[in-house]
Amino acid sequence: MKIGVPKEIKTNENRVSVVPAGVEALTAAGHEVLLETGAGVGSGFEDAQYTAVGAQILPDADSVWAGADLIVKVKEPIEPEWKRIRSGQTLFTYFHFAANEKLTRAHLDSGAVCIAYETVELPSRELPLLTPMSEVAGRMAVHEGAKYLEKLHGGRGVLLGGVPGVPPAKVVVLGGGVVGINAAKMAAGLGAQVVILDISLERLRYLSDVLPANVQLVFSNRHNVLEYLAQADLVIGGVLIPGAVAPKLLRREDLKLMRPGAVIVDVAIDQGGCVETIHATTHEDPTYVVDGIIHYGVANMPGGVPRTSTLALTNATFPYLLRLANQGWKQALRGDEALRKGLNIAQGYVTHAGVAAAFGMEH
Ligand code: NAD
Repeated sequence: MKIGVPKEIKTNENRVSVVPAGVEALTAAGHEVLLETGAGVGSGFEDAQYTAVGAQILPDADSVWAGADLIVKVKEPIEPEWKRIRSGQTLFTYFHFAANEKLTRAHLDSGAVCIAYETVELPSRELPLLTPMSEVAGRMAVHEGAKYLEKLHGGRGVLLGGVPGVPPAKVVVLGGGVVGINAAKMAAGLGAQVVILDISLERLRYLSDVLPANVQLVFSNRHNVLEYLAQADLVIGGVLIPGAVAPKLLRREDLKLMRPGAVIVDVAIDQGGCVETIHATTHEDPTYVVDGIIHYGVANMPGGVPRTSTLALTNATFPYLLRLANQGWKQALRGDEALRKGLNIAQGYVTHAGVAAAFGMEH
């Protein structure tokens, strides 16, 4: 099969959908990989590294899209890319259709087969192609929080781990899912005193088995959230109710309870955030201050570390990509229940209940 890897053109998107190791495995399996020149540069992969393992480098996006049976990307095709999609072509990428009707209609009209990373779902209900980005964001939340706690950035001037004779900082993590456990591990590793609040007792039990002693596990209710908030230097928001906007666990009036110069990193911002005063920010201008509390609300945190994010994402996507290439989409989906849940649009029909419901369409 001919597999196309276009360069991502969404603003500030530096990830790439296939790394040289992936090209090597695809060509060994008898496939051809057509890569747009420079597609890997933002993640530190030069064209020469791809040609060394058998990729064909093409000069522009048009020739990649025209020549490939299967297009693999990171972000949804944006408007300038729509005219390049061919009927019958298979696209494998993040789409987030339910949030964008115009995008959905463009892909329906194209006649392509669209398999979305974000809806691939294991029988355990895990989302294996979203998990790596939550891992990156959870870990990064601690770096960012530590940075904005520095005086220069307006923070309280507190070092997360403290030093001998000076107590460490207190980090409160709201939600102990993928973001939460990764944030807690990083903060605990730096020596901070960490508290995770979650509503799932089962999850708290698991976390208590795997996390070190400097992470306390507390049931999440308003009373407990406010108690720990008052002592916090850094608050990390990682709550999720699947398919819904994030619950607001902190209200504006609660900021008064916090220490001036404390930092909130609300990773859940892509679902609206779990703090009433948060709004989405960018890597160029990541923070703002409300009532003396620094707010960080970058909606695409993994974009700040594209090399790590590309490797983490492609580790997870590659086995599915290889199956799609080896078997074709119909056969690959028949044999894999998780991948089948990724099918959102097939040749002019919406095939995913959530996408259909979002726009009152049939599926
Ligand atoms: P997850 O499902 O693994 O974890 C969510 C946790 O929140 C669960 O353990 C759940 O029990 C808990 N929870 C729900 N309601 C709660 C409440 N009232 N109090 C305390 N805990 C509660 O989700 P995740 O993968 O960790 O993702 C968390 C959020 O981070 C999502 O909105 C995700 O989209 C977002 N995210 C953002 C970025 C970014 O760049 N900003 C990157 C990756 C993920």
